[in-house]
Amino acid sequence: MMDRFGPRPDLSVIRDDVRAIKAYPVPSAVGFVKLDAMENPFSLPEGLQQQLGERLGRQALNRYPMSDPRGFKERLGKLVGLPAGMQLMLGNGSDELIHLLILACAKPGATVLAPAPSFVMYEMSARFDHCKYVGVPLKENFALDTVRMLEAIEEHRPAIVFMAYPNNPTGNLFERSAIEMILRAAPGIVVLDEAYLPFAQDTWMPWLKRAPNLLVLRTLSKLGLAGIRLGYLAADVDWIEQFEKLRPPYNVSVLTLAAADLMLEHMSILDSQAASLRSERAKLLGQLQGMPGVRAFESAANFILFRVKDAATVFAGLKQRGVLIKNLAGSHALLEGCLRVTVGTAAENETFVKALRASLNVGQ
Ligand SMILES: *Cc1c(COP(=O)(O)O)cnc(C)c1O
Repeated sequence: MMDRFGPRPDLSVIRDDVRAIKAYPVPSAVGFVKLDAMENPFSLPEGLQQQLGERLGRQALNRYPMSDPRGFKERLGKLVGLPAGMQLMLGNGSDELIHLLILACAKPGATVLAPAPSFVMYEMSARFDHCKYVGVPLKENFALDTVRMLEAIEEHRPAIVFMAYPNNPTGNLFERSAIEMILRAAPGIVVLDEAYLPFAQDTWMPWLKRAPNLLVLRTLSKLGLAGIRLGYLAADVDWIEQFEKLRPPYNVSVLTLAAADLMLEHMSILDSQAASLRSERAKLLGQLQGMPGVRAFESAANFILFRVKDAATVFAGLKQRGVLIKNLAGSHALLEGCLRVTVGTAAENETFVKALRASLNVGQ
């Protein structure tokens, strides 16, 4: 046995703020009807699975991935309506792109601003990169509070404003006129995060040519490819050139690129899955809105936010019945009593609705 130099590792080299927090919690979902993470519940048709296997098998795993896969980016750009003169940057999920954008702007004292509640990664990344973070409360109905947003922008002069369109976790689309005002007023970058585009079918992509500070962020995750980790940023070449300097050169794996490239040829499959989820969403919303003790909010995403009297009890009751959703109560003052359910297959939604009825009867 070799001597140990001390009884425990000395963690004082780790940043104090890092030691003070807990890792982002991803609960185990084994055995549950999993409606907690905005995943597409459908698998790929068997023929396409085979084809994918063959395509992946042919990749040169001994080689690093292409750092700048121009052909792929061109095909992707064409498919997503990238305006002429704009460019794409690829990320290991859009989470990585959020981080790199903030990193690029993280001068001492720089501020990141977003409505609150919104996607938690904006704040997490801002803090990790030593930026100041300002969350501007939404209105009671989750609409953008334009007056407060403009005041906060004036006061804090944020390097980056993030807005998810539609917003997570509330599911609503902010008013376009409010966003236009923010685009005009913001002194730095404005990122519109269109992670839920397949369910909202409303985009700011054409605005890239009009608003020089606009960046449009997207991902393949919510469309049905969360497992491969591919996000993309669309922006003016001048912006992309700067962010590219911070991108780890091999951040998108050979397998991810190959899988995404094959899927570009079969987008109609994912598009029709999204269409089916949109109609399931309408059905589920109707059922939730008809339930006594439940207040369900309109959604342009693949999830629905709803309020009950006792979120913890209802959440636990659902879990006990094998259904995992997300409890948001306590995460923000506006989310008192709120739970978020991802729209699943018709069968999953039915299971959820039954379990919810049973949990409400016990809970209140
Ligand atoms: C899910 C989500 C993302 C993260 O997407 P990945 O590409 O899987 O990292 C980004 N923004 C919003 C608003 C999201 O809800």
